[in-house]
Amino acid sequence: MNSNTKRLLAADAAHVWHPYASMVNAPPVFPVVSASGVRLKLADGRELIDGMSSWWCAIHGYNHPVLNAAAQAQLAAMSHVMFGGLTHEPAVSLTERLIGLVPAPLETVFFSDSGSVSVEVAMKLALQYWAARGETRRKKFLTIRGGYHGDTFGAMSVCDPVTGMHSLFTGFLAEQFFAERPAVRFGEPWREQDIASLKHCLETRQREIAALILEPIVQGAGGMWFYSADYLRRARALCDEYGVLLICDEIATGFGRTGRLFAAEHAGIAPDILCVGKALTGGYMSLAATLMTRHVAETISQGGAGIFMHGPTFMANPLACAVALASIDLLLAGPWQSRVAAIEKQLREELAPCAKLDNVANVRVLGAIGVVELKQPVDMRVAPKLFVDRGVWVRPFGRLVYLMPPYVIEPEDLRTLTGAVFEVIQNSNIHPQRT
Ligand SMILES: *Cc1c(COP(=O)(O)O)cnc(C)c1O
Repeated sequence: MNSNTKRLLAADAAHVWHPYASMVNAPPVFPVVSASGVRLKLADGRELIDGMSSWWCAIHGYNHPVLNAAAQAQLAAMSHVMFGGLTHEPAVSLTERLIGLVPAPLETVFFSDSGSVSVEVAMKLALQYWAARGETRRKKFLTIRGGYHGDTFGAMSVCDPVTGMHSLFTGFLAEQFFAERPAVRFGEPWREQDIASLKHCLETRQREIAALILEPIVQGAGGMWFYSADYLRRARALCDEYGVLLICDEIATGFGRTGRLFAAEHAGIAPDILCVGKALTGGYMSLAATLMTRHVAETISQGGAGIFMHGPTFMANPLACAVALASIDLLLAGPWQSRVAAIEKQLREELAPCAKLDNVANVRVLGAIGVVELKQPVDMRVAPKLFVDRGVWVRPFGRLVYLMPPYVIEPEDLRTLTGAVFEVIQNSNIHPQRT
């Protein structure tokens, strides 16, 4: 390791927080200097095949000429202007493009700068919607266990109470209603009892509930769980029956990851409010959007407040909007469905042998997402290095080792990733050692 890298790592360890990390017992981090295609280049010259798409984002891989060109063209015009009282082509074109892709009733868009904020916006929209209708008791949200919706306080309140560490924030965090995690897996036959818990919550609490919020089909960071499209269909029908809004959080699933452009398409349903983020810009910039029906937008606008009370400084950042537009067009112009289907098939075949290992509880694949659930948590001081030593970038969490590569990955590179997963899981050091 050269002296510059040593200095960088020392300063990082001394002063820089990393996600969900400790400042006194910091886990190892790897300095990356560039990225191109599906490869990350480390400071020591090693290249890693990326199995994470930088947390669901980099669907086209890194350093893509089309996205670079879009960013450079927009940079030459303007990188940012305020959105209060001003508007611009990138925001309006992106809005039109998004509205053309999502289910028909979603017609208006609120831009924000991160997924968590788009969830805050969705929750605030739901609260203002009911306030505008004079139903002031509807101040709670219903969700399903095992979910993840972000790290800000509103979003955290609807994350899984256990993995979301609600106990840390008791007394401050809003208390919401939680139905059981859907037990029925994606593709499994439907049983009426699968919806009983959600139905019970709606029956008993309907007048207090502003909205049901969930991740359609794939629960991401709350446990990488794939559930039945019938569950989602029934949840939509129950929301209609009990007069509750439905918020779909497609921040992780949006833009093709599950094999459909949006995961709600597996069930053929449309939410009242939809959150997108992550892959929206192909991983280039931080941008998110909350889409809603005209009915929701107009009800809020015609209510006592008359306005929607939100307005981020970097709302509809032109640079991010221009890249998002280019990313969506790039996705739609290419054979993304067949690429995701091919990744799904290869993940199924090549991760299947993991199911026979003693420490593996379950292997599941949907779209370009492959998950190996272990019986014990992974030792995060050891596992990342085992992957890096095999030339791949894979970052497990808890008991989950998973792959969600860029859609442009070649079969040989994907084989290297799945092979590394199998080998690392077999390594006896992957679980914390009992001493
Ligand atoms: C990542 C994620 C969020 C939060 O997005 P950030 O950009 O990290 O704030 C919310 N919901 C889901 C489903 C996510 O995967």
